[in-house]
Amino acid sequence: MKLTKENLSQRLDHIYDVIVVGGGAGGLSAGIYLQRYLLSSLIIDKGKARSLWMQELHNYVGLPTDTPGRNLLKQGKEDYLSLGGDFLNGYVEEIIDEGETFAIHVKIGRQNSTYQVFRAKYIIAASGIIDYLPALENMQNVFDYAGYNMHVCLICDGYEMADKKVGVFGNSEGSLQVAFSLGWFTPYITLFTQGLFDVSPEFRQKLQEHGYPLVEKPIKQFLGENHQMTGVELVDGEIVELEAGLVSMGSKYHADYLEGINLERQGGNLITDKMARTSHPRIFAIGDLKVGLNQVVIAAADGALAATQIWRDIRRATGAKRWQENIPASVTKG
Ligand SMILES: Cc1cc2nc3c(=O)[nH]c(=O)nc-3n(C[C@H](O)[C@H](O)[C@H](O)COP(=O)(O)OP(=O)(O)OC[C@H]3O[C@@H](n4cnc5c(N)ncnc54)[C@H](O)[C@@H]3O)c2cc1C
Repeated sequence: MKLTKENLSQRLDHIYDVIVVGGGAGGLSAGIYLQRYLLSSLIIDKGKARSLWMQELHNYVGLPTDTPGRNLLKQGKEDYLSLGGDFLNGYVEEIIDEGETFAIHVKIGRQNSTYQVFRAKYIIAASGIIDYLPALENMQNVFDYAGYNMHVCLICDGYEMADKKVGVFGNSEGSLQVAFSLGWFTPYITLFTQGLFDVSPEFRQKLQEHGYPLVEKPIKQFLGENHQMTGVELVDGEIVELEAGLVSMGSKYHADYLEGINLERQGGNLITDKMARTSHPRIFAIGDLKVGLNQVVIAAADGALAATQIWRDIRRATGAKRWQENIPASVTKG
């Protein structure tokens, strides 16, 4: 059921088997598996998933490659709700480990917000990451192209950049190293520091050896139309023509709500075992938030693994259902 301010009081005394934080590809996949294992689940999602930005879904078997992320999310949510799962639009602010259960503190509504606490035995953290983008005065100019031919994921879109003139936009020398992986797909690479940092003589030398120009002036705006970026205008009016872009500026990890719980991390990512379990036995982490490949197919597979392991844990603790009428009296008495 879709929870709203009007009906959510029905669920405040309920202890869910699992609360999933995040309703992107990973969280929805987990939710579908959980419901099909006859467990009770609630997905809490603040919206604006990374998958929503994705205009075309590459590297995913069986769907047309021009499938936008929003279609995947819409269908996934419909499937989850049709299996009886609960879904709430809200922002998880904090999770407190109470021992047998977790208390999940949620802010509902951006305006006239209400604050509620839900409880679950297990948590699946599926809240993902979001990419940092070039910070221009007019951010709409960036949003016009980001996710179209201004890419953020080499694995997703390296193929789309093959043999094209590509600008790589970084925020540190380390972030610009992606140019040498991009060099597998195209040699026509121009690197942009956006005037944010200096590069070392060694890096400059390596760029010269590859023939990759380095632009160190700040960017005034991206040029193009119909969401297709065709170049960059620098602050001094100089124009650099491009056919695509690759932003490599790091990401924000959506895991603030887990700060009170001591979990093993690698950078911002959560470390998990092969079934997506974190260093806490009842917290699982899936998709972009955990260490691994940031791909839809991986997030969906992680959801399957986490839900299956939780089902195994609960099933093993509970045991199989008994067919009471068939149990001989001697066994019942004994
Ligand atoms: C432009 C672009 C193009 C891409 N192209 C491809 C591609 O072609 N093929 C491919 O396989 N992958 C692609 N990706 C990567 C893919 O989108 C991600 O790997 C995938 O979305 C990860 O799924 P997820 O469920 O882990 O996270 P997400 O899809 O980001 O979902 C996480 C959800 O959690 C929510 N959330 C975060 N914090 C909270 C909180 N505190 N409370 C409640 N909710 C919260 C977020 O708002 C979001 O809705 C692309 C990504 C981008 C940005």
